[in-house]
Amino acid sequence: MQKPVEYNLPDLNGRFGKYGGKYVPETLITPLKELEEIYNHLKNDKSFQDELLKLNSEYTGRPTPLTYAESLTRHFGKGKIYLKREDLCHTGAHKINNALGQILLAKKLGKTRIIAETGAGQHGVATATVCAKFGLKCQVYMGEVDIERQSLNVFRMKLLGAEVIPVSSGSRTLKDATNEAIRDWVTNVKNTHYIIGSVVGPHPYPMMVRDFQSVIGKEARAQILNAEGRLPGYILASVGGGSNSIGIFYPFINSDTKLIGIEAGGYGINTGKHCATLTLGREGIFQGMKTYLLQNDDGQVSEVHSISAGLDYPGVGPEHSYLKDNVIAEYYSVTDDEAIEATELLSKSEGIIPALESAHAVAYLNYLMPKTKSDDIIIVNVSGRGDKDLDTIRKNLNLGQ
Ligand SMILES: *Cc1c(COP(=O)(O)O)cnc(C)c1O
Repeated sequence: MQKPVEYNLPDLNGRFGKYGGKYVPETLITPLKELEEIYNHLKNDKSFQDELLKLNSEYTGRPTPLTYAESLTRHFGKGKIYLKREDLCHTGAHKINNALGQILLAKKLGKTRIIAETGAGQHGVATATVCAKFGLKCQVYMGEVDIERQSLNVFRMKLLGAEVIPVSSGSRTLKDATNEAIRDWVTNVKNTHYIIGSVVGPHPYPMMVRDFQSVIGKEARAQILNAEGRLPGYILASVGGGSNSIGIFYPFINSDTKLIGIEAGGYGINTGKHCATLTLGREGIFQGMKTYLLQNDDGQVSEVHSISAGLDYPGVGPEHSYLKDNVIAEYYSVTDDEAIEATELLSKSEGIIPALESAHAVAYLNYLMPKTKSDDIIIVNVSGRGDKDLDTIRKNLNLGQ
């Protein structure tokens, strides 16, 4: 792995090498520029950062713990495995880190209405939550298929005062919800801020969302130095759009720590039913960015599959495309079945029921651990808790009577 001496991306055009950029309709160029300017100012504004820090602490419950996984370590018989506990964040996953940052931004921009897209419903819930807290009107686009799969999260959003708008186009899942949200934003950009849920979309979103999520890696770095006096050999994180992974990777980019992202292998990467974008995708343009994409020979975006709704996305954040090409991070995949097995392993060994997304990262320990040195430290990012997935887990795991 060739680590960069200095890493300072994206460039002024919002590019990570050839990836990223702003492939949007004319009407969005000015609002994106405005967003970028205010963000660049607030990034270095002490009162904004203090306000975010205070909310992270008093509302989200940060810093989240770094837990030594003693039984899991014993299971593999070597190394030292730690878990970064984003499952303990308010609302149950890392998504709130970004939603809070962006709602503060929306207030600074003077916007009165928030829109968002959601797949599993986690980002919709995080957005509805911060809108409730700050008293802003909230509308969330969600595919009809996902509305059915995630009815509890739909109810949560409604209880929080948000309106959920069903999307019936295309595959009626996350990518279609995102298309609708972009369409809405183009029309209503004057009073509306669009809170994107991952490190995707046009510049400055991939950069902003990364910065808000990098609180995960900043904390983990300080916590592991405090616990062990050295940095980990490896960090594992699941990759959907790529926000929890870039969040924990980013503060380690200039270190010797190996950064490993795990995509959803679905039924297996030879079946055509998976979301292994970085493993099998090709460069393309999608939802405002240039990045790796799962697409057919005509360049049409593929229908994708994962047992985990949060990983069920045919694209990936452009920074990951850059990190992959330059071998700064590595990307692999595990299947639905392997994720289910890892869910049971973590539940029974550590008393922690992970989100199915996070279980993908846990599952990769089966491949990684045989290759590690006996004293290697490994951090696994537990991006969320499994409550939302219990129905799916129950259907796929026979625990007997
Ligand atoms: C949404 C989600 C993911 C996937 O999104 P990223 O942007 O790749 O982090 C992973 N884990 C959980 C718990 C999620 O809710």
